Amino acid sequence: MLSTLNPPKRLLYGPGPSMVEPRVYDAMSKSIVGHLDPFFFEITQAVKTGLNTCFGTANEFTVAMSATGSGGMETAVANFVEPGSKFLVFANGFFCDRLTEMGKRQRAEVIRIEKPWGETWTPEEQREAILREKPNTVAYVAAETSTGCWTDGTALCEAAHEVGALVIADCVTALGSMPINLDQTGIDIAFSCSQKGMGCPPGLSPLTVSPRALNWLTKERKSLIPTWYFDLKLLSEYFGGAKRYHHTAPITMFYALHEGLANIADEGLEKRFERHRKNRNAFVAGIEAMGMEMHVHRGHQLWNLMTPKVPAGVTDMDVRKYLMENYGIEIAGGFGELAGKVFRIGLMGVLATEKDTLFLLEKFEEALRASGFTPKASALPAAKAAYAA
Ligand SMILES: *Cc1c(COP(=O)(O)O)cnc(C)c1O
Repeated sequence: MLSTLNPPKRLLYGPGPSMVEPRVYDAMSKSIVGHLDPFFFEITQAVKTGLNTCFGTANEFTVAMSATGSGGMETAVANFVEPGSKFLVFANGFFCDRLTEMGKRQRAEVIRIEKPWGETWTPEEQREAILREKPNTVAYVAAETSTGCWTDGTALCEAAHEVGALVIADCVTALGSMPINLDQTGIDIAFSCSQKGMGCPPGLSPLTVSPRALNWLTKERKSLIPTWYFDLKLLSEYFGGAKRYHHTAPITMFYALHEGLANIADEGLEKRFERHRKNRNAFVAGIEAMGMEMHVHRGHQLWNLMTPKVPAGVTDMDVRKYLMENYGIEIAGGFGELAGKVFRIGLMGVLATEKDTLFLLEKFEEALRASGFTPKASALPAAKAAYAA
């Protein structure tokens, strides 16, 4: 028998989806309008402005794709990687592999510059690889959710532009939680999702394109874009000037993203970034006080997704199960190269507060003890000291 839903209450401390802002849920219960209604285009315009602020760009072409983050990734690759062209992927985690896979399906010549999962390249290494390979398009993952590692793309973009290449950056986890500085970095195409740093449910993929990349797409790309749904030239006639029907946009999701962006604007973007950074620092202080280690070097840790190493003798599944069964807390484990080796813990949006960080640390320590680990010291005093500092 089908009856009214009653979902369990979870505390989403994983890599996403993250908790949804209460005001976003409220916005989602409002009446929909048509997908060609002037009110809908007011919303897409406001969403564009809000997204540009979060990305740190003045781009004219910024949209929310009707898709999850992977749809934004597919859009970036399908539009900006031509068949037979040279596609250079900086590969240091799971989502770099997904970019590689998409590049192959576009029949590009894919070349990978590898690093172990959780490490990143020096500016010199980025530069050397690009000048050597002279690709048409370069892709990297700014915030690698599978490892917790940040890659700065400044030198990469500079070198890419010297050889006439476009740069795609996966900014899925970072958007709304830490600075991306798109224009300053020189990124040409970036995409994200609604359900990680933005405090909304999954369903939309913010995507932005630089004037340079747009010029290439409209004037220099020779072959037909091999996907209809993700063809940015067609989409620009819907979201841009002509406002011509392309697909029926998920109106409720646009309400959600609009409200999530309004919530970010009310807090202030810089304040919000700083809030995430502070909680990350307190979390790391707590982890290290227990005698555990972080997988990623301090200078490259994300501000909203942390990867403590699983201590020797502990099975990560025991800890995760304990947290879920006793407190409804969801955290994630590692996968691929990092399976069984790290925990992946998100402090994003709603849960990136002192109270929720300390709550998580307390329960995480309890779960670790229950799984056979004896901490050197308790996590909470060190975390509290980090807040006070
Ligand atoms: C989550 C994620 C994706 C994929 O997004 P979906 O919304 O799951 O399709 C891509 N790249 C990174 C870095 C991610 O964290």
